[in-house]
Amino acid sequence: PAEGRDALLAGLNPQQLEAVTYRGIALLIVAGAGSGKTSVLTRRIALLLQQREAWPSQILAITFTNKAAGEMRERVAGLVGDTARGMWISTFHSACVRILRREADQFGFTKSFTIYDSGDSRALLKRLVKEHEADAYGLTPGAAQSRISKLKNELLDAEGYARQANMSDPAERKFADIFADYQRALQKSNAFDFDDLIAQTVFLFRAFPKVANVYRRRFRHILVDEYQDTNHAQYSLIRELTKPIEGEAPEPYASNGMMIFEPEPEASSDESTAGASLTVVGDSDQSIYAFRGADIRNITEFERDFPGAKVVLLEQNYRSTQNILSAANSVIGNNFDRKAKNLWSDKGPGEKIVGFTGYSQHDEAQFVADEVEQLRRAGVAYSEMAVFYRTNSQSRALEEIFIRSAVPYKIMGGTKFYERAEIKDALAYLVAVANPADDMAVRRILNKPRRGIGAVTETSIGMYAEQHGISFRDALRHPGELGVGPKLQAAIARLDSVLAEATEVLLPASGELPPPTSVAEGLTVLLNKSGYFDALRASRDPQDEARLENLDEFVAVARDFARNNPDGTIVDFLTEVALVSDADDLDDESGVVSLMTLHTAKGLEYDAVFVTGVEEDLIPHRISAGEPGGPQEERRLFYVGITRARKRLHLSLAMTRAQFGEVSVAMPSRFLQEIPAELIDWRQSPGDVNSRGGMQSRALNARRSGGWGSGGQGSSKGGGDRFGVQALPKREGLKPLSTAMDRFPNKVTGKVRDNGDL
Ligand code: ATP
Ligand code: MG
Repeated sequence: PAEGRDALLAGLNPQQLEAVTYRGIALLIVAGAGSGKTSVLTRRIALLLQQREAWPSQILAITFTNKAAGEMRERVAGLVGDTARGMWISTFHSACVRILRREADQFGFTKSFTIYDSGDSRALLKRLVKEHEADAYGLTPGAAQSRISKLKNELLDAEGYARQANMSDPAERKFADIFADYQRALQKSNAFDFDDLIAQTVFLFRAFPKVANVYRRRFRHILVDEYQDTNHAQYSLIRELTKPIEGEAPEPYASNGMMIFEPEPEASSDESTAGASLTVVGDSDQSIYAFRGADIRNITEFERDFPGAKVVLLEQNYRSTQNILSAANSVIGNNFDRKAKNLWSDKGPGEKIVGFTGYSQHDEAQFVADEVEQLRRAGVAYSEMAVFYRTNSQSRALEEIFIRSAVPYKIMGGTKFYERAEIKDALAYLVAVANPADDMAVRRILNKPRRGIGAVTETSIGMYAEQHGISFRDALRHPGELGVGPKLQAAIARLDSVLAEATEVLLPASGELPPPTSVAEGLTVLLNKSGYFDALRASRDPQDEARLENLDEFVAVARDFARNNPDGTIVDFLTEVALVSDADDLDDESGVVSLMTLHTAKGLEYDAVFVTGVEEDLIPHRISAGEPGGPQEERRLFYVGITRARKRLHLSLAMTRAQFGEVSVAMPSRFLQEIPAELIDWRQSPGDVNSRGGMQSRALNARRSGGWGSGGQGSSKGGGDRFGVQALPKREGLKPLSTAMDRFPNKVTGKVRDNGDL
């Protein structure tokens, strides 16, 4: 093992070495982008396993995406071989799902609970807001959803909220009622929403210390990546798991004298009752989820929360060339309220950053596509290039041009495949089988395809279910007692028998595991026998053809799942689908350019990076202006984007941008000004574009009278003046953004059609 140890530690710098080998109870690694935080976590795990300091099952590592978890698992396996099996390397959500599936029956759920995604909980809230007539109080389903989400991230449940809310305010009372009803509906449907997964796990641990102790005893080493983006609920989960094991060693004998388990040899020694060792890594400069309740204080107050914690700083960046790093350092240096960092690289200056200003977003996209092709010819693989944008809607122009230019690409997280209506229908069919208590799922498929079951019948079924204290699904078994006509009775009976038949395929009664292909088979049974496929085939709507293709794709996904998870059940399949997150994809992305939002880009790295739409109102985003700390968070987001690049960074923008059917004049982002001019090589600067005068449009005139570059000759020289935005206050904290923007009253709206849209 000593040799292996040396090999494992080879190439680490002294600080990294210290972080990998430190063996105290709490360790915080704070460092800028690309300094090896994630690598250090991976090596730490590998070393623990290789030196036999821990069993794989004693390790819990939390990553930000399932994809990152997969990569970390692979790397550990690469370092120490297959011993890595049995480790929990996962996101907070996946880890909590695993815990909840094991423990669900402790508190009134079953193991096959459904996970409601954002669309599901929105649909439920829509119904509740209507029932409570809450829109009269200005409460929309969306607003209710985000409030509930925030409260859950703060670990406030419905009762807790009701206790502290101002109940003399009718609007507050309405919201409290809706929150309580929402929670009751989830419970009744045997379902958790996304935020519940974490909050309920914490509640479970607090209510059942014995259950918590099982996991405290199991996980002796807990490691968390991207700790700066944990919210209060996630933080509390970590605290619960790292508490010392409460009470005595577990009693090996039940009260009737039967032995429950073999007592562990060292079960009562001091060491085994101590809390788990905790390692967290993070970078306050990359905190970009404050809007979801992430709290940088979790990192800044780590030493207070875990007394005696060791802190290690990493300063060498191994990812990027110095030019890229200098740009990043210079931008983030404009955030006040942060500790200065000295991030350096020994990779040499490298290429200059390339800047480009297009006339429109299509022009910008063309630049990106051309540049991608050129890099490709120079030997950079497509898979080593990535294009980032602030908002999903920006991807459309890029896609159009990429398709036209035959550049292979893949949108990460933007496909929304699982949000398509037909896929949600298919999922609802599966859920109706896996978790028959889920009324929402059964309601969804009641009349899909059309069987003549309308709102009136749905209400009758609901009333019958309520009167008899049974689920919606079970009510379908009694078509004769619902008080509906014979045709409807027959339709209901047919649906019932389709569900019953699929249940036999998917959940064999014998208690045996279903055969490996059963998810795909069960799905096919459901879609065929329900008439869903037939209805689409019979339709003349071309969209229905696309829907059929999507469903075929979904069946293929189910088959793949069976192939990769020979023991996987329908519940495992549904869990996987529910947890597919922004950065995750079921296909691999080799050989294609990755397109994604800046948020999704966190933690990743590419040889060549394009940050597009570097404009005011996009980055910083318009909605950030009103939020306290908003513009600073936007700057961190930009910093995350820049620091993904290893060798080449491109920053591009457009002068006009079509959004929501309107074309407006775009202003260069203030963040561009924060990069030293000599680091950027402008292929086409705002000044060049002006001097050509080729664009005869009102937008151009408006722009000229507005704030764009005054002269137009000095393209790449001239500091801040090159954008004509030198008057922008350097720190938006000093002046409200609105004042700054008032200087450029040159929004053109609704008048110019963007050519690319025609
Ligand atoms: P981020 O803040 O973006 O998440 P990070 O701090 O997690 O970045 P890593 O992704 O772990 O950084 O490392 C960045 C790159 O540097 C990776 O390609 C990694 O392999 C490489 N690297 C890290 N440490 C070393 C080292 N000691 N020697 C050589 N390369 C290293
Ligand atoms: Mg990382």
